[in-house]
Parts: sequence; structure tokens; C-alpha cells
Amino acid sequence: MTIVDGNALAGDLGGVLGVDATSARLRCSGCDTTGLLAVTRVYRTAMGSVARCRGCDTVLVTVVDAGAQHWVALPGARAVAND
Ligand SMILES: [Zn+2]
Repeated sequence: MTIVDGNALAGDLGGVLGVDATSARLRCSGCDTTGLLAVTRVYRTAMGSVARCRGCDTVLVTVVDAGAQHWVALPGARAVAND
């Protein structure tokens, strides 16, 4: 497992959403803070990535690498906004 910041998700999220989402702001459902996706703590494995809140460790974003497809979920993001 590799631990990086949210900027590491730029390629995967760009492939699914069609935009660079790392500058988006996420509101955490665990601690209600808002922060840039780019500064989340991302845990990467061969199966995909999990982005966690730096404040409370809630899982904000998951990216599953299913070969030709990537599946993105926002289980712990109460809201998403652009800057
Ligand atoms: Zn949080």
C-alpha cells in the first residue's frame, strides 16, 4: 500500500468524470469540515484508491480499478463544490 495525497487521483477521476476533480472541495460527513480533494490522504493498492479525511479519517472517495473501468464513489462526502 502506498500513501499519497489527493493529487494522485487526478488521472483516475479525470478518466471517469472528464475533469480534474482534485481542486473540488468536499464536505466531510464525519467531522463537517470542508477541504480540497487534493489534500486528502490517499491509500493506493492494486485494486484502487481510498481518499480519507485528514481530520477524522472518514472515507471520502473510493476508486476501484476494474481493469478497463474505474468505479468512483463518494461515501463520506456530504457535498462537493468547485472553488
Ligand atoms: Zn472528516
